Amino acid sequence: MKISEIFEKKTHPIISFEIFPPKRDEALKNIDATLDVLSALHPDFISVTFGAGGSVTNSATVDIASKIKNKYSIEALVHLTCLTYSKSEILTMIKNLQDHGIENVLALRGDRNPNIEPKKEFQYASDLVAFVKEHSDFGISGACYPECHPESKDRINDIFNLKTKVDAGATHLITQLFFDNEIFYDFVERTRLAGINVPIDAGVMPVINKAQIERMVSLCGATIPQKLQRLLDKYADNKEALFDAGLTYCINQIIDLIAAGVEGIHIYTMNNPVVAQRICDSVKNLIKP
Ligand code: FAD
Repeated sequence: MKISEIFEKKTHPIISFEIFPPKRDEALKNIDATLDVLSALHPDFISVTFGAGGSVTNSATVDIASKIKNKYSIEALVHLTCLTYSKSEILTMIKNLQDHGIENVLALRGDRNPNIEPKKEFQYASDLVAFVKEHSDFGISGACYPECHPESKDRINDIFNLKTKVDAGATHLITQLFFDNEIFYDFVERTRLAGINVPIDAGVMPVINKAQIERMVSLCGATIPQKLQRLLDKYADNKEALFDAGLTYCINQIIDLIAAGVEGIHIYTMNNPVVAQRICDSVKNLIKP
């Protein structure tokens, strides 16, 4: 089923998880155990990230997405980047995904990597959205940035470019992670004013590792509110305490999003099933149909 149809059918917030293909072979074997726990939480879909730069088809992303869809019968959303691929490579990927019964892709430009030369056949995610729409029947999702994409001139241009992506065929959006819900609410209002009317999933990530979150934030530019910074400073060297504090912060963020009537919540699980389990246990009565 296309993700936009899931949104049409359900009245309560859509809950989804993101996982990434582990780099080490050993960890890749453990992905089944992670999927066992995640699937038992009955998310509406699970997305699988895509490492830009490698061979477009020889990718663990497709194997994991295929398992999600065909073994666990959960909708899989395959991330697909375009900056470093040719049109013929993307066509091969589309065929490969179709052969695995995949129905949804998250069409992305991908980050610029100084070590990998862009192929110049796609410049922006909206080019990929239009191409996928022309060559398949996939449901197409796109990324969006409540705090503005780091390369954008300003917020107005960023929203204008997002509208181009939706007009090209994206029927669902997922936000970059954010820690301040007010920033998300303000962003959603701006998208609606701009005539962007597709469902927007709020992307949230539990902060359970200080170094990891500081690296993520330096890449994506998310603001860390004082309340969260205090937790990070106080519990940086106490793994268990930071786990509890970071998870509680995230759960409170999710409760506020649900209370505010958010359409969907996309949890960046970092492949940690305990995190997903604790979050779902804490909000289960809030997301009942
Ligand atoms: P775009 O939508 O193309 O935007 C990129 C920049 O170009 C923005 O500044 C935008 O304002 C600008 N722009 C867009 N269109 C135009 C235009 N017509 N004219 C001028 N400027 C324009 N990366 C991975 O490598 N693998 C993943 O699996 C992955 N998953 C992600 C999942 C989510 C939910 C998010 C939010 C990001 C993910 N990323 C992933 C990171 C993403 O690839 C980067 O953020 C990348 O820098 C931008 O990708 P995009 O698809 O948002 O690009």
